[in-house]
Amino acid sequence: MFTREEIIEILTDESDDNLSLLCSDAHRIRVENRGESIFLRALIEFSNRCQKNCLYCGLRSSNIDTSRYILSEDQIIACAVKSYNIGYGSIVLQSGERRDREFISFVTKVIKEIKRFSDNKLGITLSCGEQNEETYREWFEAGAHRYLLRFETSKEENYYRLHPKDRFHSYSDRINAIKTLKKIGYMTGSGFMYNLPNERVEDIADNLLFLKELNVDMVGMGPYIPHHETPLYEERNLVRLKEKSDIMKLALKSIAILRHLMPHINIASTTALQVIDNQGREKALASGANVLMPNLTPDTLRENYSIYDNKPGVKEDSELISLPFPIAYNEWGDTI
Ligand code: SAH
Ligand code: SF4
Repeated sequence: MFTREEIIEILTDESDDNLSLLCSDAHRIRVENRGESIFLRALIEFSNRCQKNCLYCGLRSSNIDTSRYILSEDQIIACAVKSYNIGYGSIVLQSGERRDREFISFVTKVIKEIKRFSDNKLGITLSCGEQNEETYREWFEAGAHRYLLRFETSKEENYYRLHPKDRFHSYSDRINAIKTLKKIGYMTGSGFMYNLPNERVEDIADNLLFLKELNVDMVGMGPYIPHHETPLYEERNLVRLKEKSDIMKLALKSIAILRHLMPHINIASTTALQVIDNQGREKALASGANVLMPNLTPDTLRENYSIYDNKPGVKEDSELISLPFPIAYNEWGDTI
């Protein structure tokens, strides 16, 4: 178990030998606690409509440059059936944030239908932003059992550098939403972005320790990648690391440190890593990560789900993945 000082020391250490030692240790810890196999979650980005205005994200409501969509129930079910047939035991339904009744009921209906056709075999993770407790319960009772909600950054003052300060964006609401998800009984995932403008190494250490404090079941964290139609784009030169290779090292360090801090959780090798290194996801899986999220969003709509610039998988067919690790097919891959 690392202290805050030790984490900061690792994050600032420039030795490649130390990094590979840290990563191989983390890999060993992962295999001991979560097994050899990689778990899969098929990602379905079912809507890019969003009521929020996060300063970093291309889906923010003020971006009029994106054409908005929501998949029909049939289209989502078709993706879910495809996942089921390939043997991806679990799917993630991700979207922009909406809190209107029409949207809430739509998601409930889709969850129930997926549970019905798969005879409860397909695991469902949601990532649809902040909702009230009643909505989270409705979706849980319909059959969703996991939820992903990143806190984005653990310090309140940093949070408001990334979000407008209004009723849609409240630091305490975000943190309380994560706690509510846990209380209801969801396997709860959270995480943060790193290499944000004006970020200090200490912030990353605090983010990692905050995940431990929240005691989450899974983590997805990834590099901030500027999107040209967002306010934060203006600050893109204020990031600490400019070289992709340095950002990749930070990614591996963060994953490996977290695996030391939380041996039993699921850690995703996130899509954004692929933007900075074409072997990024594989390297992460050899450094403590154990979950991969192949994108199953229909090809024609993927380019509209543009959270950041140069998002991978927009053209590639990511169904076909070849990895140097065994893959757990037809499993939910929950933590104990
Ligand atoms: N609307 C939901 C889920 C979709 S966004 C939510 O916000 O929770 C999913 C994640 O994309 C966010 O949590 C954020 O961490 C990440 N993201 C958004 N913009 C990004 C950017 N420019 N670079 C890297 N990650 C980004
Ligand atoms: Fe909407 Fe999520 Fe993007 Fe924020 S990060 S603008 S909530 S899609």
